[in-house]
Amino acid sequence: MQPDRKTVRRAGTSFIEFEKKFPDQESCLAHIMSIRLDEAEVCTACGRPRKFRKISKRYSYISKCCTIIIRSPMAGTIFAHTQMPLLTWFRAILYFTNASMGISPSFISHQFGIARAASMRTCQLIRRHLDSIDHDIRLGSAGSCVYVSQTTMKAVSRLGKKNGVRFRILLATDGAEFLAIPIATGEFGRSRDLLLNRLVPSASIITQDERLRKRILNHYASSKAKGHNINAADNPYDIEFNNLSVYGIALKGFILRSHNWIRETNINSYIGHFSFLYRRRHRGEAAFWDAISYFPSFLHEQ
Ligand SMILES: [Zn+2]
Repeated sequence: MQPDRKTVRRAGTSFIEFEKKFPDQESCLAHIMSIRLDEAEVCTACGRPRKFRKISKRYSYISKCCTIIIRSPMAGTIFAHTQMPLLTWFRAILYFTNASMGISPSFISHQFGIARAASMRTCQLIRRHLDSIDHDIRLGSAGSCVYVSQTTMKAVSRLGKKNGVRFRILLATDGAEFLAIPIATGEFGRSRDLLLNRLVPSASIITQDERLRKRILNHYASSKAKGHNINAADNPYDIEFNNLSVYGIALKGFILRSHNWIRETNINSYIGHFSFLYRRRHRGEAAFWDAISYFPSFLHEQ
């Protein structure tokens, strides 16, 4: 046997670990059940603790006491309303969270022997699920500034345009967290609002240059936008801007190594997938567990 190589940083959850924990469908369902259902729940009529048992051949659990309650732990998650077995979902999520680059629908289609259209839908849902997990994170804790710069991404296709369009992306960091917000053409105002909504109230903003400062301030007469002070950086090569450009390059590489082009309408979910992994880049083993353990309310409507 080879000795453990301690210098190698753990990059994810191995397939062997996965198989041990989730050998079958039942173990996946039990995991979701343990997260989604309150074990301390008591019967409202008699006050005794409720015991749930699984309804055979269904994804639901039943508790009989003074009243009967049925709970479906998959409701409101990405797993709701699907024909695909839960075990396949879990395995697909393992690929998405272990990946160092984007996962293409054809890869998932080949791995699981599912049709291309179903595979595309699955990939989109998983990306959106990963994106939703970190949605409450706000940049700019007390006393720290939020640095904002802008980058451009190519190879984005737009409906009705033969050639790809260039897509601008706002990048932000407070030194610990990173955020990327795509700017649809002519929609800078909307992207600015998305950015401001993701900041801690009254956090100060430092833009990389004066032009970007003016753009963010466009509709605000004072030097503040929604309570945020905005200044242009004295030094556009500050370490934080360096970190932002590393983040931006990693984002573009992540998407373009596995896709020749992506659709404009999907860009948010690709960024969401990337950001989810980037946030966990030094604790890879957390990625898979976080992905199957947090279920912010999920809307299936596209
Ligand atoms: Zn009771």
